[in-house]
Amino acid sequence: NWEPLKGQIEFKNVDFFYKKGEYILKDFNLKVNQGETVALVGETGSGKSTIVNLACRFYEPTSGEILIDGVDYKLRSQNWLHANIGYVLQAPHLFSGTIKENIRYGKLDATDEEIVNAAKIVNAHGFISKLEKGYESEVGEGGALLSTGEKQLVSFARAILSAPRIFFLDEATSSIDTETEAKIQYAIDRILENRTSFIVAHRLSTIRNADRILVLEKGVVIEQGTHQEL
Ligand code: ATP
Ligand code: MG
Repeated sequence: NWEPLKGQIEFKNVDFFYKKGEYILKDFNLKVNQGETVALVGETGSGKSTIVNLACRFYEPTSGEILIDGVDYKLRSQNWLHANIGYVLQAPHLFSGTIKENIRYGKLDATDEEIVNAAKIVNAHGFISKLEKGYESEVGEGGALLSTGEKQLVSFARAILSAPRIFFLDEATSSIDTETEAKIQYAIDRILENRTSFIVAHRLSTIRNADRILVLEKGVVIEQGTHQEL
């Protein structure tokens, strides 16, 4: 019996290490307001994916808190988080099964029509319908039968279907052909509409569209502002 989610996320005095004592983040603070799009940029190894993984609760802070609408996310159930938080990771993970099953994972009771619609919204329908078995195509272990760009498109369709209030994106760095790139850009724009989002950005177009940009260096925000200001 939680109130409807506004969609604000806050990192409060977050420390984190993977290996005891080797801090990746030390007293990290960040508040993303309802409806805001915040982009995170920084060198490789600066801790960007770590921050996203913490936000998705694949890891929990060593100390400090991550609050969603002011409540520590550890107090929420995994189901609640799954229903309210969507993400597409740097190395998007699909489970073995069909494309349809992977998209539907965002909303288990979705109809075929809703699944196709979600895929159309993010521009994934084109590549899917060109496959011999279309939506029934097997993606292979972890999605091995698809390219990274295609895996991301499937993940975006999943995110559209589940319509979470909060969305995290860790943009893929691996090379993606120009055509898929354009589709992904379109997908990102659709996904960011009306939600709180936090994006690890590599593309200039993503950075440009953010309300606020943070520059991360060794786990510390060294600069922030709008695209114009930086
Ligand atoms: P990139 O731009 O290359 O994606 P990043 O900013 O996302 O880099 P992170 O992946 O957050 O960087 O890594 C931050 C630091 O944490 C790095 O020193 C990395 O080696 C380390 N690290 C990341 N994941 C793990 C892990 N699972 N176990 C141990 N160390 C890790
Ligand atoms: Mg990363």
